Amino acid sequence: MLVTLKEILQIAEEKKIAVGSFNTPNLESLRAILGAAEELDLPVIIMFAQCHEPWIPLSLIGPIMVEQAKKAKVPVCVHLDHGETLEYLEQALEIGFTGIMYDGSTLPYAENAANTKKAVEMAKKYGASVEAELGSMGRRESGAGDKSGEEDETKIYTDPELARQFAAETGIDALACSFGTTHGIYLKAPKLDFDVIKNVRRETDGLPVVMHGGSGVSAADFHACIHAGVRKINYFTYMDKSGGTAAAQYIAGLKEGEPIFWSSIIREAEKALQENVAGAMRTFALLDE
Ligand SMILES: [Zn+2]
Repeated sequence: MLVTLKEILQIAEEKKIAVGSFNTPNLESLRAILGAAEELDLPVIIMFAQCHEPWIPLSLIGPIMVEQAKKAKVPVCVHLDHGETLEYLEQALEIGFTGIMYDGSTLPYAENAANTKKAVEMAKKYGASVEAELGSMGRRESGAGDKSGEEDETKIYTDPELARQFAAETGIDALACSFGTTHGIYLKAPKLDFDVIKNVRRETDGLPVVMHGGSGVSAADFHACIHAGVRKINYFTYMDKSGGTAAAQYIAGLKEGEPIFWSSIIREAEKALQENVAGAMRTFALLDE
């Protein structure tokens, strides 16, 4: 059933878990994620990131996401990930998305706050909820940016006092915080600052904290983040990689001269995606603790 971001985060708050939030830039990932959520009977957030537009347009996959969320046996929020313009956010709301993230993290504070406030006002008209970002995770959602493996100079941890001001000024429902994680394939084991999460929660009266860039984070560290107050975890890169690896293994396992069928490749990839997502969901719901 289709629910809002606010509603799904309330479920997470009651259970003291984090809801897994996964990007679905193709039908295989969409089916794998909803399949895993139903198999484990857990709420789930499916997302479309603006930077995935070159892979598939929001106008094509968006309505399918909403339709499938309505049919699901578990609570599903359909969320726009890293929306960079208000026009794009509105496009998602028109399609029926129940959550949107406005990402103004690269802008000066005042501009980020002003635009986020506009996004909150706009979402309200559609009955949707809003996530925003304060601080910077360095590399962008697309994984672009620093590739050296050195400490990313552009990474700025979220300031808890500024978070309080930001939440009060904008009226957001969730805040993406920077506390040591990185988007994309990880280059060295991340060192997380759990105090940032705890302090943001304390300063904002328990606003749900969103964790982006779980790459390279251990199950124990995910658990510690959730105990500190993370309620939504964005997870994509390693899920996507599992599908690619399964496809490559399938092709490598074919006999010499055997035809390679596209439909068989994606079937194998989808099975791997579902297994990978189910593993992440178990961790985020503390089922493996
Ligand atoms: Zn992100």
